[in-house]
Amino acid sequence: MTMLSEYSNNIIMQINPINLPRTHKNKIIIAGPCSAESEQQIMDTATELAKAGIKIFRAGIWKPRTKPGSFEGIGEKGLEWLAKVKKQTGMMVATEVATHEHVCKALEAGVDILWIGARTSANPFAVQEVADSITDKNITVLIKNPITPDPELWAGAIERIYNAGIRNIAAIHRGFGVYGETIYRNRPQWDIPLELKRKIKGISIICDPSHISGKRELIQDVCQQAMDLNMDGLIVESHISPCSALSDAMQQITPAILSDIIDSLVIREDNRTDEKISLLRAQIDEIDKTLINNIARRMEIARKIGEYKKNNNMTVFQSNRYNTVLEKWTETGASYGMEGEFIEKLYELIHSEAVRQQIDVIKNRKD
Ligand code: PEP
Ligand code: MN
Repeated sequence: MTMLSEYSNNIIMQINPINLPRTHKNKIIIAGPCSAESEQQIMDTATELAKAGIKIFRAGIWKPRTKPGSFEGIGEKGLEWLAKVKKQTGMMVATEVATHEHVCKALEAGVDILWIGARTSANPFAVQEVADSITDKNITVLIKNPITPDPELWAGAIERIYNAGIRNIAAIHRGFGVYGETIYRNRPQWDIPLELKRKIKGISIICDPSHISGKRELIQDVCQQAMDLNMDGLIVESHISPCSALSDAMQQITPAILSDIIDSLVIREDNRTDEKISLLRAQIDEIDKTLINNIARRMEIARKIGEYKKNNNMTVFQSNRYNTVLEKWTETGASYGMEGEFIEKLYELIHSEAVRQQIDVIKNRKD
């Protein structure tokens, strides 16, 4: 859990809520494919999104891929397609930039909004290069959180853009990379963007449910969580034919599905208490997920022990081991103020399921 003290106290930026159209339930909705792939894909997607009332179109032209060898973006010629989207649909257009050259080309093509991706915002040299390239330009910049949960690095990237004279700024929460099992591709840590908002007064926060989720099925839920936390908008990857997308195929949704998701969102009253409770509940949900994952891993090991006991002719239930472990955890639990009886019951439940699973392994094993 991030402590508030991780933030420096000297951020003196004064940023107003971002000036972008609020089209759905008073929220800013940005949508479009992960990558521009072909003129047809861009125009078909944009036309459908425009019909759904979306006013800001996103598409990656230069793609920072984790590993070489995958689709690294269509490059410059995609900018012409974005210009065409702007002309034919009236939507604003947004793309990711990471270098001086990207910025120059995007601005030349009339791109309205630049975003700094998670891999770039983690790199102060790159952020500074972008900042120097847009100094005093009339452009909107969205800054994604860096891939690691480092609030200082995120705030620092925002500060560099601010110091370049840019005032139409918003932050995007796209979750943080984690090693190990999680249901998300990039785990959200909602307390970090909320604290950013408290520290950088007035900054708007947009949620990127696509890169948080990594899969279509989770997007609606993540969008709702962002709304419950009173975020200012959403940036969602939408593709006319998601399954054939050249990047991030699993997390893209059609414009029609996006429209349904937006319609389904419940927007609660802006109320500090609700925001606080939602944040705490989101933290509890995260812990519960870890709890279940850990219990499942524990059961997996118990099954391995069952296998071993069977092979070596040992009994499943060994009371010495049970008593020692129970004693140890009751003591630890007590040091956290938990009643001995509670730990006993909890342990009994876990242990009896482990024994059941061991017996199951032994019964089902084919010699
Ligand atoms: C993207 O928006 O397509 C992208 C590459 O996102 P991120 O920088 O959050 O990974
Ligand atoms: Mn993507």
